[in-house]
Amino acid sequence: MPAVSRLACREVARDIFQVRLPLPFALNHVNCYLLRDEDGWTVIDTALNYEPAIAGWRAALAELSISPRAIRRVILTHMHPDHFGLCGWFQAQSGAAVYLSPRERDLAEYTWLHDIPTEEHRTAVLRYLHSGGISPEISAFIGKQQDRLRELTLPHPARLCTIEAGATVKMGGRTFQAIHAPGHADGQLLFYAAEDRLLLCGDQVLLHITPNIGMWPTSEPNPLGRYLRSLDQLARLDVALALPGHHDLITNWQERIGELVVHHEERLDAMYEAARAGATALDVSRMVFNFSKFSPHEVRFAVAETLAHLEYLAEAGVLVRVEERERRLYRAA
Ligand SMILES: [Zn+2]
Repeated sequence: MPAVSRLACREVARDIFQVRLPLPFALNHVNCYLLRDEDGWTVIDTALNYEPAIAGWRAALAELSISPRAIRRVILTHMHPDHFGLCGWFQAQSGAAVYLSPRERDLAEYTWLHDIPTEEHRTAVLRYLHSGGISPEISAFIGKQQDRLRELTLPHPARLCTIEAGATVKMGGRTFQAIHAPGHADGQLLFYAAEDRLLLCGDQVLLHITPNIGMWPTSEPNPLGRYLRSLDQLARLDVALALPGHHDLITNWQERIGELVVHHEERLDAMYEAARAGATALDVSRMVFNFSKFSPHEVRFAVAETLAHLEYLAEAGVLVRVEERERRLYRAA
């Protein structure tokens, strides 16, 4: 194995270091970033409270001789557990403020931070799964999974600060602009440095896999519609290098966005065909995805992804929603 692969991080642009950390999921890693300035470091996204990820961070911080006090702030592109998970761990050591968009702050508080809304959240998730056609057995498993995920976000930060879309953030010796990029997460923020044609692109555009565009109980309406509009805006950005939350660096920005758009167009066609005679989200998922390889965790993502497409088609007027004994069916309009 070449020596370089043993390094805990790598400089992917001047003063920007990528740290790839392991995750205990089918998607087995997340990319986080360390940005260097004269007065300290900015951490972008954090991975989970999972022993191999903590070991990875310790190695990266040691390699760059970063003491806890040198960490000035933590910025989260969005509140999904693989990005949020260790922000409290960083804050506890460094005192660094944790920033994310107001919408993602609210969702993080609702989903991870507060005990009582977590109970509410669990009930909302169960109702949502039942409506999508998912059996009580799988729902119970998913409920347990949610508790486990919450444990992987401990310890929680004492306070969350916000960055508004459009704000300017100076980090890594550059001036970045925060761009709101919904669809994968309602309030996701990307950070664009026009002078270097450089974009921290979160999970909005990824290579090798398509970002999960899911309709969750907490989602704002029509996530796929908002995602496709966001891609349309992002395709107009001049990007030479995009630094994503998973997988490889992106150097074919416009081309990759074009592929993602085609992927969703094809999936919309397939889901329309699967739903036209009347089907729940679970029925449609089974027809479009290969469930034989899926864990209940992945079933949940497949159903959320299916719902995002069915809702898009319902908003477009080509499918209608039919409520039937607490289940929601979709059929051709
Ligand atoms: Zn992610």
